[in-house]
Amino acid sequence: MAGNEETTQPRRVTARKSDRETEGPKKIGVLALQGDVREHVEILKKLGVESVEVRDVEDLTGLAGLIVPGGESTTIGKIMVESGLLDGVRSFFYKGGPVWGTCAGMVLAASATTGTRQPLLGLMNALVERNGFGRQVHSFEKELEIEGFEEPFVGVFIRAPFFEDVGPGVEVMGKVDGRVVAARGENILVTAFHPELTDDIRFHEYFVREVCGL
Ligand code: GLN
Repeated sequence: MAGNEETTQPRRVTARKSDRETEGPKKIGVLALQGDVREHVEILKKLGVESVEVRDVEDLTGLAGLIVPGGESTTIGKIMVESGLLDGVRSFFYKGGPVWGTCAGMVLAASATTGTRQPLLGLMNALVERNGFGRQVHSFEKELEIEGFEEPFVGVFIRAPFFEDVGPGVEVMGKVDGRVVAARGENILVTAFHPELTDDIRFHEYFVREVCGL
């Protein structure tokens, strides 16, 4: 009845939205299934940002952003399927949640791989070569020119991937020998290297401030 509706309390969904608007989500999640989780948490701490280790779909609630760390993309992908996090993270992302994938995280963020099939999040319109640099050299460091950064950034590459091809909506931020190693879209950032293994906090700062808007 119309009369009843006018006196009805605001629905829960409205209350939640206003919570977000007044306080805003402030915590950044780090997917903690496998890989270098602690290193990301430490850098976020240096930036004064609180983090949450994400192991279940419920942990994604209220996050301002999510980091998918380096490790082994096949292992992380398999656990994500089993735990429901593959769909959970997709849904977080497609509702506007910012995601940053480093190394294995960059592989998972891609829409397709050149090699064997594996579970992917498919958040970015890109074809990834999983161990692109790994076949030539196991690991290396390289000074990179990054779009939007004033000074070069030293990238640590460990069996690193690269994007063989990118589609519309993908903005390339850095390359090594013509291969894409850093890129972003509206609410997605990817790096083939490991900023969490250096003392340089600029990529974390970039993600937190420019992509997550904290
Ligand atoms: N090439 C690895 C993979 O496919 C990633 C390596 C890394 O995260 N350091 O998962």
